[in-house]
Amino acid sequence: MSLFGKKNDFGSSEKSEEITDFEKVKVLIIGSGPAGYTAAIYAARANLKPVLYEGLQPGGQLTTTTEVENFPGYPNGITGPEMMEDLKKQASRFGTDIRFGLATKADLSKRPFKITIDDRKIIEAEALIIATGATAKYLGIPDEAKYAGSGVSACATCDGFFYRGKNVAVVGGGDTAAEEAIYLAGLAKKVYLIVRRDELRASKVMQERVLKTSNIEVLWKHQTKGLVGENVVEGAILWKNKGTADEEEVRIDIDGFFLAIGHKPNSDIFKSFIDTDQVGYIKTIPGSSKTNVDGVFACGDVQDTQYRQAVTAAGSGCMAAIDAERWLTEQN
Ligand code: NDP
Repeated sequence: MSLFGKKNDFGSSEKSEEITDFEKVKVLIIGSGPAGYTAAIYAARANLKPVLYEGLQPGGQLTTTTEVENFPGYPNGITGPEMMEDLKKQASRFGTDIRFGLATKADLSKRPFKITIDDRKIIEAEALIIATGATAKYLGIPDEAKYAGSGVSACATCDGFFYRGKNVAVVGGGDTAAEEAIYLAGLAKKVYLIVRRDELRASKVMQERVLKTSNIEVLWKHQTKGLVGENVVEGAILWKNKGTADEEEVRIDIDGFFLAIGHKPNSDIFKSFIDTDQVGYIKTIPGSSKTNVDGVFACGDVQDTQYRQAVTAAGSGCMAAIDAERWLTEQN
């Protein structure tokens, strides 16, 4: 959407979409996963009066996960949505102004930084903390779009319920794929785990759980060619041993096709100002949350190519708030 000069029905220009709503804030935090909320807790306790925009998925990726068993302090585990609700309450308790809205544009060329929210309001921030996380990746085959909402999903916790007693497939070999396959195995009749190599990338404990679950069948060295079905997914066509002399096509009968092949960092609106790697992960100065732009800090999955855990995201959120606080003090 253009901010200025939208053409009307008669072909002439009008300025009806010019943004007139401006607000100045000291610290703006974009994102509401463990990184964003932890940054908010620290910034609010440092009396920086942070404003936090939650983004497209309030609570971040953990709201789509089941049990979190590895976050220190929860000996019996906790569900992802419960943990995020607790973090939100904690950030709120110290005075964070938490708002629903999506950052749609950024101008980081000079200070104060200008962030457009929902294409209709501009926040001018002295310091900016980017905690926008990452989004699920798709394979890029046309059938994913064709059957979107009709059997294709990237979130087992959100959509698994619809596949009770049915056959489903999960694509991927990492911890997410293992977790989703195990979750779905509790609902579905059978789960195929489509793995492109002959080994899983998932942690040993998750690998063991997958292999011990009787209704999960791992399809080693398989890749997805396409999906079939009248109006909804009824099957998948796979390549076995693709690119070798033993290559063959295999059909599996499934009702649900779940993607769990990793994530893309949500850094697009910052890329013309902030250094990223080839994938789009924001580069931070090692040992800090500082980006190449003075006063802009990044934390959580949007800058983490290595760990991508809730606890590391929270830790980096803490770093970002402390870095921002020190930077603001130096400026004044
Ligand atoms: P990962 O990047 O770890 O794994 C992605 C998986 O998808 C790999 O097995 C990869 O295959 C496969 N893959 C990627 N692209 C394709 C493709 N085009 N076709 C077929 N397969 C493909 O992502 P995850 O989301 O699983 O995990 C991200 C991070 O989050 C990890 O650090 C993980 O440990 C962590 N995590 C932790 C959890 C927990 O502790 N409870 C839960 C979930 C995630 P290949 O191996 O061949 O590259």
